[in-house]
Amino acid sequence: MFGFLKGMGITIRQLPTKKVTLMYPNERPQWPERFRGVHEYIPELCIVCYQCARICPTSCISLSGARDDNKKMRIETYDINFEICILCNLCTEVCPTNSIRMTSQFELAEYTRDGLYKNMDWLYHNHVEHGSFRAMQAEKERAAREELEMPVQQKSDDRGGDK
Ligand code: SF4
Ligand code: SF4
Repeated sequence: MFGFLKGMGITIRQLPTKKVTLMYPNERPQWPERFRGVHEYIPELCIVCYQCARICPTSCISLSGARDDNKKMRIETYDINFEICILCNLCTEVCPTNSIRMTSQFELAEYTRDGLYKNMDWLYHNHVEHGSFRAMQAEKERAAREELEMPVQQKSDDRGGDK
């Protein structure tokens, strides 16, 4: 009887407090800015340097590329096996062009293991559908960098003009 009353006491004390649960999927969670969800990938930015694949601790990234007519490396295939990806973020940290990034997307349930093998199209679609905080942050940083670089270029032009 004492246990029952103790339990009821705890329940009653919790009634007026703010709920921490959501009516998912009708209500969507708001993740913190540094949340590490499944990746997005932007092929146009990728320089096929293999840094992401080399650093991946579970070897779940596989990619291939070739030189185009202008001798530039172009990506041909880019796949991530989310069966073994641990969402550690290392691949995005080393990417020099921000072509691979984490997103706020977390829904990755599949009926088969093969379904967890995501290719370049899926990863790009994830970029379009779930542009991450990081992506937006990267765009802002790039714009800020360009603004900073502009006066430097102008200064060097000015120095060249003085000679
Ligand atoms: S998040 Fe970690 S485990 Fe997943 S692909 Fe990137 S480096 Fe590999
Ligand atoms: S590190 Fe970035 S640029 Fe290099 S291959 Fe990976 S995704 Fe492409």
